[in-house]
Amino acid sequence: MAHVQIRDLVVEYSSGGYAVRPFDGYDLDLESGEMVLLLGASGSGKSTLLSILGSLLTPTSGTVTVGGTEVTALAGRDLMRYRQRGLGFIFQGFNLIASLTARENVILPMVTAGVSRRDAAARADELLAMVGLAERARHRPGAMSGGQQQRVAIARALALEPPLIIADEPTASLDYIQVDAVIRHLRDLAAPGRTVVIATHDERLVPLADRLVELTPRAAPSEHASERRELGAGEVLFRQGDRGELVYEVETGAVEVVRALVGGGEEILQVVAPGGYFGELAPVFGLARAGTARGGPAGAVVTGYSVREFRDRHGGALGRHGS
Ligand code: ADP
Ligand code: MG
Repeated sequence: MAHVQIRDLVVEYSSGGYAVRPFDGYDLDLESGEMVLLLGASGSGKSTLLSILGSLLTPTSGTVTVGGTEVTALAGRDLMRYRQRGLGFIFQGFNLIASLTARENVILPMVTAGVSRRDAAARADELLAMVGLAERARHRPGAMSGGQQQRVAIARALALEPPLIIADEPTASLDYIQVDAVIRHLRDLAAPGRTVVIATHDERLVPLADRLVELTPRAAPSEHASERRELGAGEVLFRQGDRGELVYEVETGAVEVVRALVGGGEEILQVVAPGGYFGELAPVFGLARAGTARGGPAGAVVTGYSVREFRDRHGGALGRHGS
């Protein structure tokens, strides 16, 4: 069994009366010792997935198992204990307590979890030395740089040797010089018996990762319901290579779908007349657009539908032709 196992995850939020499901039947396996990056556009569900792993959010349905413990089945004292001992958190905004020194910030979660003050202090000194902050142990966060604060947060996350460390955009507020040391220490966190999951946009982390998990945004029905567009002659609706969420129907005029040829020129894939549709392959299969769609010589009016809406309108018929 994988160290971290997610099965059939469904997360449903309610947003302005619509259900938004960033995860709908999602499975994921992560191994011990791995540093895993969660990548994906804003809104693709990175923070949601971290919150689920961190037991900060209860999924609508599905299970999360870490090191053989089914986290989604825990409640009360067991859940509290899991949050204290099972997890280390590192956030974008550092989340250190401003009135405490670096050392006290690292000591606090250990004492809260029942470690003696003396042992906690010894461990804090060891951890702060490890992240290169032995000299700064008695400074408060306000007297430290962003990079130093993030290293304190890393030391704190490690204090109780948790089997899972989750980090949400940990390098986002760091400048270029500070980020190096932080990345190095994040890399060192992934050790046998532990998985490190980092949500990030920072491509500097990519070469260090053992595993990349890409999340794709799932459009809310409200966001994409029946988007109507008027296209002038030659006006581009989408380009070859774009990601696409919508299937289009032509109301009036005509739409040309063309593919650029290697070495110049283009090939017309489709001319779509009123009542016809195009652009279904990209949203159905998660592919890039195979061609560029633009208004025909007299322009066009088109309506874009989500795949679900489109299927509802056409009784499931999809994929007969297209881009
Ligand atoms: P990311 O971290 O990748 O930007 P999020 O996990 O924050 O993505 O969001 C995933 C989707 O869930 C988005 O469509 C977002 O609008 C929606 N969402 C997140 N949190 C909430 C919430 N508390 N209420 C309603 N919708 C939410
Ligand atoms: Mg986020």
